[in-house]
Amino acid sequence: MSECPKCGGEMIQGEAYVSVNVPASNPMMRGMMSPMSGMNLGDVGMTQEERIKWREKTGEKKGFLIKSDEVRTMAVTGRRCLGCGYIELYARK
Ligand SMILES: [Zn+2]
Repeated sequence: MSECPKCGGEMIQGEAYVSVNVPASNPMMRGMMSPMSGMNLGDVGMTQEERIKWREKTGEKKGFLIKSDEVRTMAVTGRRCLGCGYIELYARK
């Protein structure tokens, strides 16, 4: 068990998420709905939850003909203090 660096309270493991609104006016979605159904679902939209990722340059170059900066992407996880709500985020490979 880890302790909060601010207040010494208990830290619990968690993951950082963002909510992404997917517009329902997408033609692909609209095509699947019957215009005779009498229900207007077109304006509802959908909410998706996406994990937050960390991206950084490794300092290496990749590619044979075209050199580009190599990037490393990691999932961001974190811990939250039950006492004061302090959030500590970290990224692991
Ligand atoms: Zn705390």
